[in-house]
Amino acid sequence: PYIGWERRAVIDLSAIRSNVKQVMDLVAPAKVMAVVKADGYGHGAVQVAKAALEGGARWIGCAHVAEALALRDAGIEAPMLAWLHTNDTPFEKAISAGIDLGVSGWDLDLIAAAAQAVQTPARIHLKVDTGLGRNGSTMADFPGLIERAAKYQSEGLLRVVGVFSHLAVADEPDRPETDIQLAAFDEAIDMVEAAGFDLEMRHIANTPAILSRPDTHHEMVRLGLGLYGLSPFEGESPATYGLRPAMRLMTKVANVKKVTLGQGVSYGLRYQTTAETYLALVPMGYADGLPRVATGAPVTINGKTYPVRGTIAMDQCVIDLGPDINPNEFLGAEAIIFGEGGESVTTWAHAANTINYEVVTRISPRVPRFYV
Ligand code: PLP
Repeated sequence: PYIGWERRAVIDLSAIRSNVKQVMDLVAPAKVMAVVKADGYGHGAVQVAKAALEGGARWIGCAHVAEALALRDAGIEAPMLAWLHTNDTPFEKAISAGIDLGVSGWDLDLIAAAAQAVQTPARIHLKVDTGLGRNGSTMADFPGLIERAAKYQSEGLLRVVGVFSHLAVADEPDRPETDIQLAAFDEAIDMVEAAGFDLEMRHIANTPAILSRPDTHHEMVRLGLGLYGLSPFEGESPATYGLRPAMRLMTKVANVKKVTLGQGVSYGLRYQTTAETYLALVPMGYADGLPRVATGAPVTINGKTYPVRGTIAMDQCVIDLGPDINPNEFLGAEAIIFGEGGESVTTWAHAANTINYEVVTRISPRVPRFYV
């Protein structure tokens, strides 16, 4: 069958396994949760979860219960946690499927009712907001949440097995707010322990904290970006930490032509050639997930890097090859957008004024994934 190999994201699952091992060495005896929300940061949640577990990860983390249920349907039986709910979240299904639930406060009653309905105690991780201002109980409301959870636990409807929080600025190690969040987290842990819960784990570390703050590892770390071999730190390559990028985004040159000085390029004619040159067309655009604004981003063809010119279109973009090439060597040649043999995801992120997290998670389902 036709498989569309000419436009592809190639995911190296040995890199996923190796990144888990690398992080396990760093955090042991803490366990690794592989965070595979957003379809495994665009890499494919099922394949990544399986590879991460093979590599030694013990837990799988998702934002939504729906994401965790899809992994259960795919046969993944490892412990799982989902932490971002609304009042429509299928808590009964989650509890029946053995998915642990993060609890912010308002959701506790719904989860207890769901546990009652399916006659199975929910396993919950109390989430405390130590400063990010997103999900989780405020520090002020936390004692009340603990009290309510204790009541439900005494009724056999749930078990508090974890306490967790999320960091806001761990990717900027010089900022003071991480220490303030860690102190608040310690305080929250003390409150939970004082209430007599028998905690299996405390967890707060994301990739930047895993790599830069051993004091955040506790019993488990939540590894997202680093699992995919990307660095959260500005100006620091993943290789510094022994991490290998897992995604390689590739296509092929679809057209090459010689144009004269002053040729307008792409919608809006926002670029005009400054001399005679060869322009190459590649069949990837913003509908495939390339950021529309990433004009100037580098594409590697025949071992050399050339800039994207003009606005990236829905299905395609234009690359400037310069005047001194042999067009016959370029038509049909492999074009590496990022990954092995080409530039990094981070270079593309810079061209689009965003972060590497956003670039990989937005590679659209239109691009076939291949696993090696
Ligand atoms: N934990 C939570 C609650 C998250 O939302 C995320 C992702 O943003 C992670 C962990 C993983 O973070 P990172 O990709 O920086 O490792």
